[in-house]
Amino acid sequence: MERTYIGKLKEKVGEEVMICGWVDVRRDHGKLVFIDLRDATGKIQMVALPSHKEAHESVQKLRSEWVVEMTGKVNKRPEKMINHKEQNGELEIEILSATVLNEATTPPFDVTSDGMEIGEESRLKYRYLDLRRQRLQKNIRLRHEIIRFIRNNLSDEGFVEIETPILTKSTPEGARDYVVPARLYHGKFYALPQSPQQYKQLLMVAGFEKYFQIARCFRDEDTRGDRQPEFTQLDIEMSFVRKEDVMNLIEGLLIKLVEKLAPEKRIQQKPFPKITYKDAMEKYGIDRPDIREDRNNPNLLAFCWVVDFPFFEKTDTGGWTFTHNPFSRAIPEHEDQLMKKDNLGDILTTQYDIVLNGFEIGGGSIRNHRPEALEKVFEIMGFETDRIKRNFGHMLDALGAGAPPHGGIAWGLDRLVTVLTNEPNIREVIAFPKTGEGRDLMMESPSQIESKQLKELGLKVVE
Ligand code: ASP
Repeated sequence: MERTYIGKLKEKVGEEVMICGWVDVRRDHGKLVFIDLRDATGKIQMVALPSHKEAHESVQKLRSEWVVEMTGKVNKRPEKMINHKEQNGELEIEILSATVLNEATTPPFDVTSDGMEIGEESRLKYRYLDLRRQRLQKNIRLRHEIIRFIRNNLSDEGFVEIETPILTKSTPEGARDYVVPARLYHGKFYALPQSPQQYKQLLMVAGFEKYFQIARCFRDEDTRGDRQPEFTQLDIEMSFVRKEDVMNLIEGLLIKLVEKLAPEKRIQQKPFPKITYKDAMEKYGIDRPDIREDRNNPNLLAFCWVVDFPFFEKTDTGGWTFTHNPFSRAIPEHEDQLMKKDNLGDILTTQYDIVLNGFEIGGGSIRNHRPEALEKVFEIMGFETDRIKRNFGHMLDALGAGAPPHGGIAWGLDRLVTVLTNEPNIREVIAFPKTGEGRDLMMESPSQIESKQLKELGLKVVE
């Protein structure tokens, strides 16, 4: 007999079926033994009757989380027994046989609840069990639907999905890099990308014009509730665009995505309001304002754009650094000022941030596509000509090789999914997240490596 998925049982009423899955719960009422069976598509209540002696006996041995193959007859429940709240609440399978495919140790915690009552350490240590719970199955599946929606939509719009390297070079994006020692070049290191920023700009120089990637990014920062050492961005770059073109594309995509995949949500205002950095600071005291008119409504989505950020801010040591992205372009009215290094604190950048319910879910800008302007930004940051050439020579060369005007954006995908699923933190929407302290409790990472590996890499650990 061919396997039937539990989600397809409605089409099989009156028929004999074979189903496979995990024992969700077993309720032994003596004469009647009930098994709730679960597979990737849902749950079904099954019952073993004493009249099918063999099946009745084998079912008594089953325990939670055992993996089984069962055959049975799909019956309609009598009207009184129908449970309208359940997916298969009008059905029940009369068990004809039960085969154990694998036994399971007693799970360290309940996987049938929403899991909020269980300590996170334990949930993360046994993540493969934790992921069995319905809430997480739903989150990870919605995440997939969101990514699929983005891929299809952007592909239809002529975007090309291009992978960029994970082993790369330090980029000055404001955070600390994760580094990987190079075995063949002792004393030299790759860095994991904080974002594919430079590569996506180089793809514009290469003439792709519309690029996207569901990109993994790595930043070695102290983790917080909504941060992870590695996270996922929807990364986009486009050529021959103005700021408005990128913003309109993103706004349209977000609205369509919410309407299709989170129809229970209401978007407070369309088009999304645009707030200048100055107004946001004056009115809300923060550059990612939560403008919801009703904070008790979990289904309200208040998107807004924040624009006109200062390009530079003072460093602790009295120099200047960029507020967002060194590759950004100043607003057209301030380009001269940048070239003359005049009143640096007043220069505004083309940066636009997209904010949702007080979370910055993305940001981007139009870039400096002329090498002189990018060089000027580095000069302002106090980099010597030598260092600019050493670190960014490739970018300056590329911009000098016929770079089109271009700009882009990146969304934090984890945060967006977190808001759409009403979860309290991004660890609930990532299959295998790290703890708040950056540890993977299941794999026990970070971990020591063999002394042979250290030797090959030319490394010594300082105790
Ligand atoms: N690379 C930027 C970031 O990760 C986003 C962008 O400007 O496209 O924040």
